[in-house]
Amino acid sequence: MVDLKGQYNRIKDQVDASILNVIETTAFINGPEVHAFQKELEAYLEVKHVIPCANGTDALQIAMMGLGLKPGDEVITADFTFAATVEVIALLGLTPVLVDVDPITFNIDVNAIKNAITPNTKAIVPVHLFGLAANMDEIMKLANEHNLFVIEDNAQGIGGYYASKDGTKKKTGTIGHVASTSFFPSKNLGCYGDGGAIFTNDDDLAYTIRGIVNHGMYIRYHHDVVGVNSRLDSIQAAVLRAKLPNLDAYNDARRLAASKYAKAFQGIDGVITPGCFCDCSIENKEKCNLHVYHQYTLKIINADRDALAAHLNKNGIPCGVYYPIPLHLQKAYIDDRYKEENFKVTNQLIKEVISLPMHTELEDEQIDFITSTVIDFLKNN
Ligand SMILES: *Cc1c(COP(=O)(O)O)cnc(C)c1O
Repeated sequence: MVDLKGQYNRIKDQVDASILNVIETTAFINGPEVHAFQKELEAYLEVKHVIPCANGTDALQIAMMGLGLKPGDEVITADFTFAATVEVIALLGLTPVLVDVDPITFNIDVNAIKNAITPNTKAIVPVHLFGLAANMDEIMKLANEHNLFVIEDNAQGIGGYYASKDGTKKKTGTIGHVASTSFFPSKNLGCYGDGGAIFTNDDDLAYTIRGIVNHGMYIRYHHDVVGVNSRLDSIQAAVLRAKLPNLDAYNDARRLAASKYAKAFQGIDGVITPGCFCDCSIENKEKCNLHVYHQYTLKIINADRDALAAHLNKNGIPCGVYYPIPLHLQKAYIDDRYKEENFKVTNQLIKEVISLPMHTELEDEQIDFITSTVIDFLKNN
């Protein structure tokens, strides 16, 4: 699904030198590389504060701790996402409220959020799923009306944009009150192990969070709040510093591969391709929600998706089903509160979605082979 080796080979000298430098200087924990990466990512995202941490799941949890959410508070999030999003809500004793998603963008459905808001609702967690920004204008409007926090799960969307109706354009992860991301190796900005970060423009929240990641300490050995130990290690920061200057080029390479896929599938019956769902012409580029294609996810609507997946695997083509089970039907999160009729879209998507290989090193011949294998299958089944 990804070609991490090919990507590494292009920046090998720089990455190797940076890693060796950390080892030589033995600044393994919170060394200068971590601070430098923090500053560079703040500049890239145009956000006031980046707080590096150990992984994207911690980032979400710490963001919620920083906001002071308490047991019993309801947190609304999408039924169609990676489990980490709902897991931390449950872990903190908060009440997860899963809602349906949009069948076109796969992102959280704003009407479903509206219907789920109660006097106990405290936060909304939109996920920029597969690299496409959620409907942030409407989500922020709802949040303001109901006095709710918005925590963007930007693990799949780093480097993407959201073009607001008011003509402004912001990077995903800088629109809500706080955001989280992951540097898991296969993410758009991946390190060579685990890593994550929290972003916010709120000075007070950033201060609180910097203490939480460090055992709740604001003064050494004074523990004012219950915190955690969650750090980005210096070797991972060194890798990320070598990769960050390439992030826009990486995302451009993903978009180019996506456009080649889309062209090959144009006019093919039963395949629905993903996209920005806005006018992405060159002239309109400034107003477009730039999709960063963390995944390239098709909907297969007239054929057996699982048979297609088996056919691709038989031909040596990796593929994935993200996600095969909606969160509201996962044993850990099942709840009487949920009614099947409120999850029509996720219940359908789990049968139709299939993600094709998507990374920065895809060659034209690979795309041709993948698309022709899919198309041949659909013509014969
Ligand atoms: C990857 C991912 C996470 C978790 O990130 P880790 O670094 O693996 O903990 C959270 N949310 C979403 C949507 C993800 O894709």
